[in-house]
Amino acid sequence: MSKYIFTTGGVCSSLGKGIASASMGALLECRGLKVCMIKIDPYLNVDAGTMSPYQHGEVYVTDDGAETDLDLGNYERFTQSPLSAANSITTGQIYQEVIRRERAGQYLGKCVQVVPHITDEIKRRIYSLGEKPGIDVTIVETGGTVGDIESIPYLEAIRQIIHERGKKNTCSVHLTLVPEVAGGEVKTKPTQHSVKAMREIGIQPDVLLCRCKEELDEGLKKKIALFTNIDFDSVLSAHDVNTTIYEIPASYHLQGFDRVVCEKLDLKTKKAEIAPWVKLADRYKKDGRKVTIGMVGKYTLLGDTYKSIDEGIVHAAIKNNVDVELVKIESDELEDREDWQEQLKSLDGILVPGGFGERGIIGMTMAARFARENKLPYFGICLGVQIMVIEFCRNVLGIADADSSEFRPDGKNSVITLLEEQVDVIEYGGTMRLGGYDSHLVKGTKIHEAYGNDVIRERHRHRYEVANKYKDAMVDAGLVLSGFSPDGQLVESAEWKDHPWGVGVQFHPEFTSTPLKPGPLFDEFVKAVANNKKD
Ligand code: GLN
Repeated sequence: MSKYIFTTGGVCSSLGKGIASASMGALLECRGLKVCMIKIDPYLNVDAGTMSPYQHGEVYVTDDGAETDLDLGNYERFTQSPLSAANSITTGQIYQEVIRRERAGQYLGKCVQVVPHITDEIKRRIYSLGEKPGIDVTIVETGGTVGDIESIPYLEAIRQIIHERGKKNTCSVHLTLVPEVAGGEVKTKPTQHSVKAMREIGIQPDVLLCRCKEELDEGLKKKIALFTNIDFDSVLSAHDVNTTIYEIPASYHLQGFDRVVCEKLDLKTKKAEIAPWVKLADRYKKDGRKVTIGMVGKYTLLGDTYKSIDEGIVHAAIKNNVDVELVKIESDELEDREDWQEQLKSLDGILVPGGFGERGIIGMTMAARFARENKLPYFGICLGVQIMVIEFCRNVLGIADADSSEFRPDGKNSVITLLEEQVDVIEYGGTMRLGGYDSHLVKGTKIHEAYGNDVIRERHRHRYEVANKYKDAMVDAGLVLSGFSPDGQLVESAEWKDHPWGVGVQFHPEFTSTPLKPGPLFDEFVKAVANNKKD
């Protein structure tokens, strides 16, 4: 039977519950435990797929093709927990299922209510993952902040699970803010109120993670412990780390987090082997060669839009001891700048990430052409490879109006198109090629060298593909098509010949890159950027 840890947040949002939960998972794995991670998002959307990046940051895609909250990305970067659609629970899904059952008459004429029907469905979903064979600990993170209207049914379901499974099998970890006010005084009152709000719902937190600027001193911890009714050694300082988020597992461990949780849950384990995390943080701190990578994309003004790509670059930078400055360039602003070439010249490498819709395409195409002609390392991800193909067809093949039918639906030369059978069924939500697919790599190419494998599996999230009609002409003109779907029909990757490193992929390698095992393409790209840097 699995034990359960429930992570909740108090005082305000964006305190880093996701990273905290992921770090707990990492630490429990260091003790040899098998962990399952679940994210609850109390919004009414069924999944994150239809949400604008401005609203919710990156849409993270699992191997089974679920479009989820970006916290699932944190889980996969920190833990081995196998994630699927079931690990991401939203209010939309819960209500959809309860209403479906009601329509099917499955409640036998009863009045269908939030308690017990919604709360039962929440519990059913949590138990169905937690009770899977082999899982030792299930960590359930509830999005939002205690006191939000939306999270009430979830907290009630959690209260019931704690009651049903008992105190030895459940642990409530509450993350709060301990702010510093003008004059530098550190305030514990918001935390006291936040724990009070939890208790009103019927949950007494067992562990407190106090987000703060500087490490909390003993006096403050004692004060918080006394007024929140939490053991002194269970009040932990989750202070800002000034290096990398990957230092957090080691920081929690030093304060005894995993020991406290294992004692609470009555789990006997081996000693935590945290050396890989400590090494990672140490390597991060070493000074490395400085390079600047420009990410030319859309929605770059928002911090979390390309979360997994940002992290993929960090993973490779740590591994190769390179100090990467990642500059985000809004592509439609680049289009309008007279000195755009100067801006690109200051970069050591260019990355064009994924995106949807026409805005900004010209700027991305300019960046791809600049990288190709100036032999600057280029990494195209999803839309980034489509841009690479369009640019190549226009400027090397000489097809001036080459385009994607996404941007020019009635164009004569759509070198990127919808799969034939998809043409008539385009509808938003659920029409994309989503999730993990195999690609067969061509020997002797850069991508083959990066992965060191003939067959790889990476995740997809797109509707359009390289048009087969133009493939031969592209190859004849010198574009290397370096990866294909198993049936050979779909182009998975392309490369520039006689270029230090210009690789584009139709999939999203950022979703599988982890700090302990950086994605091979991020690794090779950062290496190429460092090697290519002019001194
Ligand atoms: N808009 C493109 C497509 O749908 C690329 C999508 C992406 O970059 N994720 O194919």
